[in-house]
Amino acid sequence: MRVEQANVDIQQFSSWREVPERFASKTTLRNQGLVPGPLRANVYQRSSKSIIELYYIDEATPRKVATEKQMAAIEKARAAQIANRTCAGFKAVMNRKRDLSGGLCSYCRHELFLDNAKSRALQRMSHWIQHKNDYAVLEQ
Ligand SMILES: [Zn+2]
Repeated sequence: MRVEQANVDIQQFSSWREVPERFASKTTLRNQGLVPGPLRANVYQRSSKSIIELYYIDEATPRKVATEKQMAAIEKARAAQIANRTCAGFKAVMNRKRDLSGGLCSYCRHELFLDNAKSRALQRMSHWIQHKNDYAVLEQ
């Protein structure tokens, strides 16, 4: 059976046994590092009850390999993405940027809170000592 589709003849096969060796699926081509050409046929795959699209192997083209410049750009983007979710405190990399607040992870934020509380307590105690005559001790 032949079906006319967008001015291209699409052959229909009812099982893989009927498919000539010239054809391959998109997955097969991709696994061989190839990009499929135009759609040339369909085959009904009984096991998955689905239609698999088939392409001529000789019309497939090699997948473009990224240039050194493209690879550098990808690497740069990846590094920026990691830096974006790295804690400024202990340099821990979070799974998501939203795990950071003000550039810090929850552990570092808690540490910062404790440090601030400690320094406020020390300021208050030194103020009491410096101005001990301003205070009356009612009980000891
Ligand atoms: Zn941290």
